[in-house]
Amino acid sequence: MFDTWSGLNSRTPVTFNDVMNEIIWNNRFICIDKKSVYRSDLVNLGIMKVGDLIMDNNLFLHDDLSVQISSEQRFFIMGVVHALPSDWKTVIRSSLCRNEIEPIPVTTYIKLNCGSLPILDVTSKQIYDSVLCKKQIPRTAQQKITDKYSDTVINWKKVYSLPFRTTLDSKLREFQYKILNNIVFTNDKLFRFGLSHSPNCTFCSEEPESVEHLLLRCKVSSEFWKEVLSWLKDNNIGTESFTETSLFLGFFEETEDFFIINHVLLLGKYYIYVRKCHGSLPSLRGFITMIRSVYNIELHIARERDKLAVHFRKWEKLVVALNN
Ligand SMILES: [Zn+2]
Repeated sequence: MFDTWSGLNSRTPVTFNDVMNEIIWNNRFICIDKKSVYRSDLVNLGIMKVGDLIMDNNLFLHDDLSVQISSEQRFFIMGVVHALPSDWKTVIRSSLCRNEIEPIPVTTYIKLNCGSLPILDVTSKQIYDSVLCKKQIPRTAQQKITDKYSDTVINWKKVYSLPFRTTLDSKLREFQYKILNNIVFTNDKLFRFGLSHSPNCTFCSEEPESVEHLLLRCKVSSEFWKEVLSWLKDNNIGTESFTETSLFLGFFEETEDFFIINHVLLLGKYYIYVRKCHGSLPSLRGFITMIRSVYNIELHIARERDKLAVHFRKWEKLVVALNN
């Protein structure tokens, strides 16, 4: 059967979809130590095609903590990623981060406490529930954050549930989940897989692009946040007690602005990431445009559900600024 695949694989893949649909196993283009490879244990996990190595179009599978694979398997998959021909990587690199990619037929299943589900059908809520229910999870990302913000007592249950209280947008919830688990595709990671020419920051090129650097510490991002906070302040939204921890984990003081502040923080981080993917700089003006479109979507939903009062309570202080 695998010989047949090898035979079928004789055509050189050209397009993004060709590359995504290439069978990894016994593929003469994917060699480790000059030999093509085959691992039945990974086949059983649903890893068959190059597209199965990538989730959400921009996340390598082995980097996702919700997929239960051993460190040896992770290491092997990393080797496979490394062994992909460089022209395929160019095709993948040029398509990563773009929104217009066709959905990839992914057959990978992930094990959650509610059972095994196809990766594309899993909702952020299911992942979240699984995370909360698991008794023993290798919390290395969490431990790193705890160490980094050692002067703050972090209530992880609150941290993980905050995005679910703040927004209905599953894209934002998932992005914050990725931030917390250090699985955002920044250049420091892309470079390790040979998918970026440099580990350095897209905006400043001066320092390695880690999640914290990109979203908070880069001089470009910190300038952006300064402008955002001052814009919020101009609109009478209290941001005086903000710290870097608030930007990274969320704002936990239950003030009257609690919901709008946390939604803007989630959006801001996502906005910076989108700008990075497009290779352009974040700006307050661009960000306000994004907030305005989110406002209009929520307004539409609120109207349909007869929840306009709740909507205006949340957005009250920004209504004027967003309608200008
Ligand atoms: Zn930078």
